[in-house]
Amino acid sequence: MSRTGRCVCGTISYEVEADPIVVALCHCDDCQRQSGAAFSTNLLFPKDAVTVAGTPTVFHTTGTGTGEDRERSFCGTCGSVLFTQLAEQPGVTIVKAGTLDDRTGFAPAVEVWTDSAQEWVAAIESGRPTYPQDLPAG
Ligand SMILES: [Zn+2]
Ligand SMILES: [Zn+2]
Repeated sequence: MSRTGRCVCGTISYEVEADPIVVALCHCDDCQRQSGAAFSTNLLFPKDAVTVAGTPTVFHTTGTGTGEDRERSFCGTCGSVLFTQLAEQPGVTIVKAGTLDDRTGFAPAVEVWTDSAQEWVAAIESGRPTYPQDLPAG
């Protein structure tokens, strides 16, 4: 099934032709800072299934737990955060759920980095499997 998405201004758009591998709420410090929100809703897709139109601006961070590179893509015009590429998972593209045109059907299956979750979020988002840091490998 195909889904489309875009940044706020529309300079960057994309199409995804796969179901997500997993949908994860991420409470990590970088996701909170980058989004300005309490957490990020991340859809992990096979990289091959994501087609991007336009050229996002990229910024690199280092994963707190892994020390691996994170390439964070955003729109250089409006600042919308769109994608993350994890160095240790080159076949996966993470799409920020809020940029989808149709956001239905993507309830998170897991929560990661609950170590850095804001207290009030942890209180209302209980019930899913949680991990104090990154998802375990595999
Ligand atoms: Zn934009
Ligand atoms: Zn994160």
